[in-house]
Amino acid sequence: MSEAVVKIENLVKRYKEVLALDHFNLEIKEGEVFGLLGPNGSGKTTTINCILSLLSYDKGEVEVFGKKMTPDNYEAKRNIGVVMQNVAVFDELTVYENIDYFCGLYIKDKVKRKEYVEDAITFVGLEDFKKFYPKKLSGGLLRRLNIACGIAHKPKLIIMDEPTVAVDPQSRNKILEGIEELNKNGATIIYTSHYMEEVEQICTRIAIMDKGKNLALGTKDELKKMIKNTETIYIEKIDVTKEQLEAIGKINHVYSANVEDGKLQVKCSGGKHNLINVLNYINDNNIPCGRVYSELPTLNDVFLEITGKELRDKEA
Ligand code: ADP
Ligand code: MG
Repeated sequence: MSEAVVKIENLVKRYKEVLALDHFNLEIKEGEVFGLLGPNGSGKTTTINCILSLLSYDKGEVEVFGKKMTPDNYEAKRNIGVVMQNVAVFDELTVYENIDYFCGLYIKDKVKRKEYVEDAITFVGLEDFKKFYPKKLSGGLLRRLNIACGIAHKPKLIIMDEPTVAVDPQSRNKILEGIEELNKNGATIIYTSHYMEEVEQICTRIAIMDKGKNLALGTKDELKKMIKNTETIYIEKIDVTKEQLEAIGKINHVYSANVEDGKLQVKCSGGKHNLINVLNYINDNNIPCGRVYSELPTLNDVFLEITGKELRDKEA
């Protein structure tokens, strides 16, 4: 049994009339890359601020490293690295100086600190930008600097709040690889995101949250097994009648069939030959159609089944 690094029990946080956390529970064990997945406004940042004792809350308990977390629990704070959602670096300092500043809050030994700063720079791939000022960095590079500042002191627990929002794919991959490496080197990670693909890629366990509540918890496979959907079949540019659509909805293992913008979506639960069965019907009835494909359930399907809505707004 690994020890709980963070334990949250029955946490309630209100901002005036907004109930941001509604009896929220969570236990994160040593060595996990724990994903907190939820749409904007679901309470991810509030959770993190409560874990860090940056915010007071109305009810509940927060423990970090087995002790109650309080604003003056410096012992715990020394062992936590935070990468906040909003980039927080000094414009007056270069990349190197920024990392050195944050690392210096924890690591007093100059030789050791130099080594740690260099490690952090290599880690986020900013070797060619050490002397750059933040204003000269692209959004992705700035995010990488923000991360380097948060993790340079080699903390045991690293909390990252949406570190890849509005980041180019190259920086995003670098960040995701980096998180996996930090974890291999022994850090426990809490990672929040509203991008389910990322959470699926790197997280060992995932909590899906919405409206301040923890809706589901498990590995990605466990989460997907909690739902009825096992496969969704898509057929583009289809021309079906209402009767045909109803008939498709009655095929074995199919539990819903809809057409939106000329694209048929068939949701299946169980069964092994769903795609063939649907295509046979299309063929037998000479229904004109375009591209056909099938998808396994995603975390979005999990979210959709639990809440009745999509995990994220369709992005522009
Ligand atoms: P997330 O990080 O998942 O996007 P937040 O924790 O930032 O969610 O927000 C949770 C809810 O609390 C939202 O409804 C948000 O509008 C509200 N909220 C967050 N911060 C404040 C604040 N300082 N004052 C008032 N309401 C807030
Ligand atoms: Mg947030």
